[in-house]
Amino acid sequence: MPFSPKRTCAYTGCSELVSSGYCEKHKKYSYYPSVKGALGVKVIMVIGAPGSGKSTFVEKTREPGDLVIDLDGIQSELSGKPLYLNHGHEVLERAIQERNRRIEALQCEFQPGKTLWFVISGSITYDRMTWRRILSPSKTYVMQCTLTECIQRIQNRKSETEAEQIQAAERWFKNYEPFPDETIVYTGDS
Ligand SMILES: [Zn+2]
Repeated sequence: MPFSPKRTCAYTGCSELVSSGYCEKHKKYSYYPSVKGALGVKVIMVIGAPGSGKSTFVEKTREPGDLVIDLDGIQSELSGKPLYLNHGHEVLERAIQERNRRIEALQCEFQPGKTLWFVISGSITYDRMTWRRILSPSKTYVMQCTLTECIQRIQNRKSETEAEQIQAAERWFKNYEPFPDETIVYTGDS
């Protein structure tokens, strides 16, 4: 289907016509930000399973002044609690809105030399394609190690969401399909 006609807003009961997703009033319910043009910063996407070393890689590689957007980090910021807790559904919803607001705000201003590091698990191909379409990353790094190594690192975090993180890591390895233009970073211990 090459042509997509106008459809109604994805919010139940709203009859506003949009090309996709939500109308202006309901866009706060959308999982994805509403980005119309290019962002004013260079974007690098970092994907990988829980425990694959995404945050460590970004911390090692980013330049001072670069931006990092990571839903886990925003949840921890909003709740005032450490990473990898169960922050609850309400914090997650607010964090999604805040993440989208931060991305949308980057449309307005051209910031030469500044990079946004966008961190997501990215194992679902559709989700990764959607983010690539929205953010037009100049590069995507995939953290590569074994599931056993991910599980080991998750266990070392000793967090209350350990079981969920391990399940998410298992799902990642089951679902992930490589794209040829993505750069593999070996984060294994061996
Ligand atoms: Zn609507």
